[in-house]
Amino acid sequence: MKSGKVNYHSVHSIDEAIALHQTHEGNAKYMAGGQSLMPMMCLRLIFSEEVIDVSKISDLKKSFSMKGRFFIGAAVTHAMIEDGKVADPTKGYLQYVAQGIAYRGIRNKGTIGGSIVNADPAADWPTALLALGATVIIKNHANEIETPMGEFQCGLMQTSLKETDLVKGVLVPELSNEAKWSYVKFCHKVGEFAHSIAAIVIDPELGLFNAALGAAGDKPVLLPRLSKYLMSANIKNTDLDKELNGLLESDLLENTFHLSSSYEFNLHRSIIKKAVMEALKK
Ligand SMILES: Cc1cc2nc3c(=O)[nH]c(=O)nc-3n(C[C@H](O)[C@H](O)[C@H](O)COP(=O)(O)OP(=O)(O)OC[C@H]3O[C@@H](n4cnc5c(N)ncnc54)[C@H](O)[C@@H]3O)c2cc1C
Repeated sequence: MKSGKVNYHSVHSIDEAIALHQTHEGNAKYMAGGQSLMPMMCLRLIFSEEVIDVSKISDLKKSFSMKGRFFIGAAVTHAMIEDGKVADPTKGYLQYVAQGIAYRGIRNKGTIGGSIVNADPAADWPTALLALGATVIIKNHANEIETPMGEFQCGLMQTSLKETDLVKGVLVPELSNEAKWSYVKFCHKVGEFAHSIAAIVIDPELGLFNAALGAAGDKPVLLPRLSKYLMSANIKNTDLDKELNGLLESDLLENTFHLSSSYEFNLHRSIIKKAVMEALKK
């Protein structure tokens, strides 16, 4: 299927993009890589007569260090991160996540900003950035605000963005040398959206102990009991597997809709346990 008739606008600054969006009074969509927007417009799941291409805005392609955190512009592509064209202040975590997204053709065009705004619970960046404790920088006509990832995604393909808001980029912590991470995703075929994603980031120096689960509900979630346990978790603990089973039973029952006897519950528990083991081994 093809999309309905659209007017394509290419813009070169953030202010120009927002002003143009405002003139169309809610009947416009920003487009970055077009890898999710275009298929959805063709399937008639999204209707818009005006498409504003933000992929050529140079401010959205920047990445730089700022006061202990690292800014990644919304129009930075998965491939730029995979290829190391963006410095990785997370000891390889961002690069590892990027190289596992879909296929190279999609990674060449798809962007980190487009992925989090699309807010697919089975996509990679929403879970990966939640575990990292990232924040989203949102720009509107009047000001710029910072929203933690956990508040940015509100539900299934829903975010806190208002009509003309533009995502400028994300801020991620610069991990210390002591940091450990793991990222495990399960899909039947390489390049497919995940059936389960577990992301662990541990950085005692930054006080970061996060375990996030994706593809298990309408949005990625932090697992509070496991996150707390990560402060003292030790791979040499002979009771580790038993302790994890107990923690995860409660975390999964409280944070997903899956019954403990279901295939999904057991899949998520296995993937999270694998991620914990991998992180602690580093
Ligand atoms: C076959 C296929 C397989 C895929 N597999 C995976 C996978 O395994 N893992 C994964 O994570 N993803 C996967 N994807 C999605 C892909 O990673 C896309 O890159 C991503 O979903 C959207 O990024 P985009 O830059 O193309 O955004 P677009 O498609 O251009 O836009 C997506 C949404 O974001 C909005 N938007 C874009 N940029 C901004 C901005 N700066 N500010 C405000 N709103 C904005 C658009 O209006 C639209 O609503 C797959 C896609 C396809 C087609």
